[in-house]
Amino acid sequence: MIYPFIFSSLTTLIFGAALLAQWRRYPGARFTRDIGLVYLALAITPVLFYLREQSTGAVQLGALLGIFASGLAYVSLLIMGMAQLADRPLSRAHSLAVVGVLGVLMAYPLWQGDVSLAGAIAGSITVVVGLLAWRWLWSSQRSERWAGALLSAMGLIQCTQFLLGTEWVAAQMTANTLLRVVLGLVLLQTALQRAIAEAQRLRQQHEHLTQNAHQGIAIAYAQEIIYCNPAFLKIFGLRSLAEFSPEWMNAGIASDELAAVLGLRQQVLDGLLPEARWDGQRRRRDGALLRLRFAIWRTEWNGRAALQTVITDDTAQHDTLAAMLHQASHDELTGLPNRGALLRRLRERCQTPESFGLVLLDIDRFKLFNDAHGHSLGDEVLKTLAATLQRGLADTAEVSRLGSDGFALQGSNGAPASELAQRVRELLARPLILQTHEFFIDVSMGIALFPQTGGDAESLLRAANAAMHQAKKVAGTSVVVAEQRFVQGSGEVLEQEQALRSGISRREFSLAYQPKVDAASGALLGFEALARWHQPGVGPVNPVQFIGAAERTGLIGALGMLLLSQVCEQVVVWRDAGVQLVPVAVNVSPLQMLDPGFPQQVDSMLKRYGVAAQWITLEVTETAALDNMALAQAQLLQLRDLGLKVALDDFGTGFSSLDMLRTLPLSVVKIDRSLIDPMPAPEAVAVVQAICQLATALKLRVVAEGVETQEQAWAAHQAGCHEIQGYFYARPLTPEMAGQWLRAGACPKASATLVATT
Ligand code: C2E
Ligand code: CA
Ligand code: CA
Repeated sequence: MIYPFIFSSLTTLIFGAALLAQWRRYPGARFTRDIGLVYLALAITPVLFYLREQSTGAVQLGALLGIFASGLAYVSLLIMGMAQLADRPLSRAHSLAVVGVLGVLMAYPLWQGDVSLAGAIAGSITVVVGLLAWRWLWSSQRSERWAGALLSAMGLIQCTQFLLGTEWVAAQMTANTLLRVVLGLVLLQTALQRAIAEAQRLRQQHEHLTQNAHQGIAIAYAQEIIYCNPAFLKIFGLRSLAEFSPEWMNAGIASDELAAVLGLRQQVLDGLLPEARWDGQRRRRDGALLRLRFAIWRTEWNGRAALQTVITDDTAQHDTLAAMLHQASHDELTGLPNRGALLRRLRERCQTPESFGLVLLDIDRFKLFNDAHGHSLGDEVLKTLAATLQRGLADTAEVSRLGSDGFALQGSNGAPASELAQRVRELLARPLILQTHEFFIDVSMGIALFPQTGGDAESLLRAANAAMHQAKKVAGTSVVVAEQRFVQGSGEVLEQEQALRSGISRREFSLAYQPKVDAASGALLGFEALARWHQPGVGPVNPVQFIGAAERTGLIGALGMLLLSQVCEQVVVWRDAGVQLVPVAVNVSPLQMLDPGFPQQVDSMLKRYGVAAQWITLEVTETAALDNMALAQAQLLQLRDLGLKVALDDFGTGFSSLDMLRTLPLSVVKIDRSLIDPMPAPEAVAVVQAICQLATALKLRVVAEGVETQEQAWAAHQAGCHEIQGYFYARPLTPEMAGQWLRAGACPKASATLVATT
């Protein structure tokens, strides 16, 4: 009699354990847990029955209680498990209600001590649950459809115990054990099928994600790519992965960059680095230049260590921005560089010792021509003249358009200005040939010479303009050379050097602090320190001039360090006064930045004053880095390691700056005044917006400089600039006024009139 009990218990136990093990492996199929527990409850029941029959007193009572407890657990978990199987899981409240009701129901036979009544109740519930499950699951095409029928049969057999009495127990138990085995197999099979379906769904989802991603994704063992998504192929213009080879990819990469990239890949593959990122220019299959961002990390692919690469293609964004910047610096009608571009170029050239001539050229009586022939013909004349000048002066001058009918020629390759004017005369001795007409035109020209007539862009332009107006008084094509203000020879350089030297040793320089504010809230975020020189007996000297002179005479290093020390002193004064500090930006000349000792000098200076690196930032103009990118990058990395943030100043004045933004370890980009000035004109806003988008993608903060009006401030904020600097918020301030700003944390009401110090 005992063997059927043991057999039934053991088989039920094994299937219960198998179901629970399946649940551990795949917790998504909760019914395996519930029904597994049902099986465990069923497994101990025969033991309890046996104990009840074979013992007396307390043990018998204990066995009786056990039978009811396992019966209660069995029916409750059965209901919950089948509901799970049928994808109709019970809420917590419903589960509790089920246990409560069943508890009451089972309490009656317990009270009566009637085991077979309890069995009948449990059996009837099993039949009902089985029928319900049958109904819910029959439509399923999988093995689970049989679960309901099996369960009903089990319930029915259990009920017969009540009708037939205990002598049939062994037969019932054997039949029930068989049914349990079959049900167990059905449930295990169902759990397996569901796990497989879920895995398939996840794989499909994952495939869908990578197949439709805009970023290129590739998996590689070392160099060999074993998987890539369609975006990867599209970026490189490939039809299939077979067309890709590491040799082809690596061919266009500079050897030092390639070595660095391969090094990074190996480090990530070896687990020495969690991930690595870099930017780079690559070639598409058809040779087009791509600007890509790479991110790699280690992954496992078919059980082997592999590298996952994600590639973001910034080419379109970059090209749009480059086109927009071109537009911003070029005249739409003639395609020549515009006034802003001319000014920048002149400023650049005035920083070098090389002399050159500037010719301003204005068409005589152009207004009359326009009135007589109409504007479209006028435009055609301007275009033809622009083309004629560009062609005729290709190797001797840089031509730009100043405004309506004014052009500027800057002598290049050492061509004297007088020769330029002569060439223009010769060009205009022949008629301008338009599509339907031919015209002779006269122009008036004014010549200014650097450095004889003026030492900076603005004075050169002013002088050439005045000379051109003189020339207007003469009929026909005519030229006037601007008066020479002073003659600058080697003696003047010597004089400048002497004055600067004594200025530095007597500490005649001071600093003005121009606030940078949060574009959204107007809160003070930082200052830019701007150098001022009040030369005794001369008065204030323009910083562009004395910084340029310091660069020419080699004194910029000493001057730069003096200014940095003054900034540190000021920061210490503010700190000791207990005000909340903000970072102060110090301008760094290209020549300083390219001095290999510079990072070390800055570090010692900060240490000498005990100023934390977070309170000093550096501003470098793009020309600083332009000459020697590798050195600039190394210097900037050193500065970053010291904790200093570096801003790229005057952004937008040169095309190369786009690459610099991507390659150099910068934190901030300052958009040049010349791009902010035409805001809120829509084209200007579009350019600034594009810069902000690119900068944000590269995780850089954007500062708009030279913001003079509320409209510009609003437009800059809307376009995505994070910080604003300019006369609209404040002119460069004395240290005392800057201190007031610091105490107020923003524009202090008392000094809101923003009095200039300079
Ligand atoms: P920057 O670095 O681009 O400095 C900004 C210049 O724009 C400053 O001229 C500032 O007064 C001016 N500015 C600021 N907001 C506005 C505005 O809303 N409208 C207009 N029209 N101008 C605005 P500043 O002080 O004359 O300095 C001129 C340049 O001199 C600086 O240009 C920088 O290149 C150089 N510089 C000044 N101080 C230093 C210095 O300590 N070291 C070095 N290396 N260069 C310096
Ligand atoms: Ca600056
Ligand atoms: Ca600037």
